Amino acid sequence: MKPDLHQFRRVVLKVGSALLVDRARGRLNHAWLAALAEDIADLHAGGADVLVVSSGAIAMGRTVLGLPSGSLKLEDSQAAAAVGQIALARTWSEVLAHHGITAGQLLVTLSDTEQRRRYLNARATTLKLLEMRAVPVVNENDTVATSEIRYGDNDRLAARVATMIGADLLVLFSDVDGLYTAPPASDPAAEHLPVVERITPAIEAMAGGPASELSRGGMRTKVEAGKIATAGGTHMIIADGRTKNPLKRIAEGGRCTWFLTPSNPATARKTWIAGALEPKGTLYVDEGAAKALQGGASLLPVGVRRIEGAFARGDAVTIRDDQRILGRGLVAYDAHEAARIIGRPSREIEAILGYPGRSEMVHRDDLALTDRSTAPVSLSA
Ligand code: GLU
Repeated sequence: MKPDLHQFRRVVLKVGSALLVDRARGRLNHAWLAALAEDIADLHAGGADVLVVSSGAIAMGRTVLGLPSGSLKLEDSQAAAAVGQIALARTWSEVLAHHGITAGQLLVTLSDTEQRRRYLNARATTLKLLEMRAVPVVNENDTVATSEIRYGDNDRLAARVATMIGADLLVLFSDVDGLYTAPPASDPAAEHLPVVERITPAIEAMAGGPASELSRGGMRTKVEAGKIATAGGTHMIIADGRTKNPLKRIAEGGRCTWFLTPSNPATARKTWIAGALEPKGTLYVDEGAAKALQGGASLLPVGVRRIEGAFARGDAVTIRDDQRILGRGLVAYDAHEAARIIGRPSREIEAILGYPGRSEMVHRDDLALTDRSTAPVSLSA
């Protein structure tokens, strides 16, 4: 299979510690990283949005601090992450700047992707960076994340970030060239799988092996990442990153495993909004707004006549007019703020609330409209 990587509009690349950091010297593999930056620049120049999830903070920091090899105590790995992250971010910024690309650092914890309010903030910032054509470089905020509140591996983190920003492709670079029917190191009969159409229990069972010393994720976390990604409408690739220009290698038909999604990010997100969340309130909109929504517009405060329910920013709400339910959406304001700005033009929001809020009550990306033919009023909203 020779995929055209330029068909993807938003791509997340996850780079593991074992690739970035030379194990023996505990230093960054500069030449390799510079070649990867060429690949990124190529994708970026083709118009795609690119985001990098980079491990390596702990691996780099532990050398600088002279920590022993083997597994580290939590406080030691947190200290190592604090030291290593500075160097890691600077390096990414330099290698991308070489191609005229601006990098932005995002350090996230589990709650940034799992709590809806924080999720919306993390999402908005990341999308803004992409809109400005910057390349966000993401890692877990290891210095503050302790075991209960952390991902612990960047495979699943990368998958959550990819679905959060509606990426259509996630590439996990590691030191294996994909998924095998059994661990290839110990089983000579192990067969490489070029494509996984669906992650079944049988596929999960193939992903045995634990993590290596430098990177936490093994094949198991990669398949977990595949579940998250494909459920969110994102295709995923597991590829060997050890060669130079590893993205180019995939484009040239190099060996890897594709995990395909039957969906796409926009559809998956709408399905999630329409089905997975319990609405916490209702927005009653006027006729003009109802029409605008059907035409694909966002819901502005001026089009909302009244609200019901004690919803918070990021909650799902039902959107309706007097006749029928129009759909559901994630609301951008808490109920008490929404009550103050409904019926008013967006330019007045700052004067009313005392801070510059978002212009939309529900952004069109956060809307899932019900089919027009659906039932009228008697449904309880
Ligand atoms: N966040 C960790 C680091 O930067 C790496 C986690 C992983 O390897 O998956 O060192």
